[in-house]
Amino acid sequence: MASKRIPLVAGNWKMNFDHLEATYFVQKLAWLLRDAHFDFRSVEVALFPSFTSLRSVQVLVEADKLRIRYGAQSVSVTNQGAFTGDISADMIAHLGCSYVIIGHSERRKYHPEDDANIVDQVRAVLAAGMQPILCVGESFEERRQGIELDFAVGQVHDVTRDLNEDEAAKLIIAYEPVWAIGTGMVATPESAQDAAQAIRADMRSTFGADVADTVRILYGGSVSSKNAVELIGEPDVDGFLIGGAALDADELARICRLT
Ligand code: PGA
Repeated sequence: MASKRIPLVAGNWKMNFDHLEATYFVQKLAWLLRDAHFDFRSVEVALFPSFTSLRSVQVLVEADKLRIRYGAQSVSVTNQGAFTGDISADMIAHLGCSYVIIGHSERRKYHPEDDANIVDQVRAVLAAGMQPILCVGESFEERRQGIELDFAVGQVHDVTRDLNEDEAAKLIIAYEPVWAIGTGMVATPESAQDAAQAIRADMRSTFGADVADTVRILYGGSVSSKNAVELIGEPDVDGFLIGGAALDADELARICRLT
């Protein structure tokens, strides 16, 4: 991996933990990573609580001056108005969030999040001064057909073609094959690398080498302390988006140390 890309370990809690559990977890993770052997400048750590926990996490992080970052799991495409139940990018940014996950396969499946909506989310997050983590990845069917790379690259391209260079440089991309999410079936390091490399090559041809070399590409899908070392050893894999293993502070701390 190019040395200027700092690896990111991102824990996506999905719909788990209330605000009390969330703050307990953050305290425990900070404690587990408190020693001199772990350097938050060489591995970025970010957690993605539910909206209802973000304020509590913010208060704790600020009070204890923790180096742990945090973000939201989705965002509204509009900034204010009559949109009952929606949360705007500005509201999220005002809670000290650094990132927003966009286009997670669970959001694409259970909510009307198509490419147009996902582009609008990316723009809303960028306009509010945060970084989008754009999730892409093929289903088992596309892999069976052998079109997984084209599929993942196509999903990235559908979003990036509407962005300018400055906007694209702020993207983080998470390659998450849908068949690997929550199944225990992790992609091989080689296939994670193939996808990350293909995505970076597409970014290079659209935006040039500077942008392509800046954008971090994470792997997600059944990441654990058992497979993290091999995955992060691949040159185009710049970190992880983690679901199940991010619900256990000890396991998440192990992955952070191995990254
Ligand atoms: P998993 O989830 O680590 O449980 O497979 C990853 C994700 O959904 O981001």
